[in-house]
Amino acid sequence: MVKQYDIVIIGRGAAAFSAAIKASELSEGKVSIAMVGNGPLGGTCVNVGCVPSKYLIESASKYYYSFKKTFPGIQSNKPSLDFNELMKGLHGLVQTLRKEKYEKVINAYSNVDTFEGTANFVSAKEIEVNKSLRIRGRSFLVAVGSSPSAPPIEGLSDVGYLDSNNVWDLKYIPKSIVVLGGGAIGLELGQAFLHLGSEVSVVEAAPNILPPAEPDISEMLRAHLEEEGMSIITKARVVRVFRKNGKKSVEMVGSAGKKVLETEEILVATGRKPNTSTLNLDKANVNTDSKGFIITDERMRTSNPSIYAAGDCISKKLMLETLAAKEGTVAVSNILGRDESIDYSSAPWAVFTTPQVASVGYKEEEFMKLNGSCSCRVLSLQDVPKAGIIGESIGLTKIVINPSNRKVVGVHILSPYATEIIMEGVYAVKLGLTYEDIIGTTHVFPTLAESLKIASQAFLRDVSMMSCCVE
Ligand SMILES: Cc1cc2nc3c(=O)[nH]c(=O)nc-3n(C[C@H](O)[C@H](O)[C@H](O)COP(=O)(O)OP(=O)(O)OC[C@H]3O[C@@H](n4cnc5c(N)ncnc54)[C@H](O)[C@@H]3O)c2cc1C
Repeated sequence: MVKQYDIVIIGRGAAAFSAAIKASELSEGKVSIAMVGNGPLGGTCVNVGCVPSKYLIESASKYYYSFKKTFPGIQSNKPSLDFNELMKGLHGLVQTLRKEKYEKVINAYSNVDTFEGTANFVSAKEIEVNKSLRIRGRSFLVAVGSSPSAPPIEGLSDVGYLDSNNVWDLKYIPKSIVVLGGGAIGLELGQAFLHLGSEVSVVEAAPNILPPAEPDISEMLRAHLEEEGMSIITKARVVRVFRKNGKKSVEMVGSAGKKVLETEEILVATGRKPNTSTLNLDKANVNTDSKGFIITDERMRTSNPSIYAAGDCISKKLMLETLAAKEGTVAVSNILGRDESIDYSSAPWAVFTTPQVASVGYKEEEFMKLNGSCSCRVLSLQDVPKAGIIGESIGLTKIVINPSNRKVVGVHILSPYATEIIMEGVYAVKLGLTYEDIIGTTHVFPTLAESLKIASQAFLRDVSMMSCCVE
């Protein structure tokens, strides 16, 4: 049996949902949409990504920092920890959000039919679902996302490991964890388990953790994580994993030679691969890059003009929920005859460690290469009055400007609440504000968001010799 739809969406994560909703709204429910997906409804973000990771990070940090001294005269708490109850709470939240934000929402759109199953192309106009049902479409949106990718390390799959898909099934807190990969996921989950009491070692091949960040930020974050007790080994490659004395052993080679770490668990966070290998994209004339990510233009169109792609499965720099959703809406807007494209230059990214990292626009080195000249200021968190009031000292704000017009082209923050504060930087980069525009805008005192204003003032004066609120 062959079913026919105007738009066929493969996938049911952030990109797919935003696309189905946008297409329904733009057409006032007139286009027929098929949404085909396997795995839990809602895809990565709600089930195994943003939602459970931020829950674990937040709860673990509340637990850990409640042992620490806060203000003089206030004794630290000694809370107890029941990991199974904590994980019950996590799974409960995931289930509720899946139901409320995905299942109920999509059921409200009568023009969208959902199909459970794995899809692959049989031609440029038709897919097969679970090798039984056939669906033909006028246009297609491929939004199949990505999966954790483990490097081909000898012994790794025999010994067994955790990744960001299955770590949520843990029934106990491992005594020790070796994390392979010092990127966002490795550091977020690594610090969460450190806060819950695991001994955590992070192994990273690059010279520093969080390679996409400004070097000042990675270095300061590294020093802080080490201060908290995380062991960080950089410039090292894991070459073999084996069992010894009932424990997992991770053998690595680095600048200091060979090293073996014994551990209870291994968490692999070395990157992600696109879920495109079984889609038969060649039958649909859809081109991919050498890693299998689908190549699109800025209108999300693939090499086949009636097939679009969005989300983690496309070839791009950042894998983020917000971008996946935006790409999904851009794709269907164009399918429905609009002319929309996506602006990646002001898309922020963040890492929810403590303190948090958030970034938008160019780094110093990138803008220097592009423009030939660049001007920057780095403000220590200690120069922000609010930080002193709340007892925070680890962090910095870096502003990158184009010296020819004083416009802000990049903002990079390491600070508590950096993921919230960065939005001020996003507007500055997106709207082409100058540092004078930021200085001339009244900020709330005392706030950590003032860091951007004070960092801007650093272009004009010595901010360490400045009284509060001076413009
Ligand atoms: C641990 C972790 C933490 C994260 N934290 C954040 C964060 O804090 N903020 C943020 O912005 N982003 C975060 N992300 C990234 C974010 O989750 C993803 O960028 C986003 O969910 C991608 O959405 P998507 O729609 O492209 O793919 P997905 O949500 O993965 O959806 C793809 C869907 O397609 C289905 N599918 C795959 N192949 C087929 C097939 N052949 N047939 C049918 N269906 C198929 C899959 O089962 C899935 O349901 C995090 C990711 C992880 C792993």
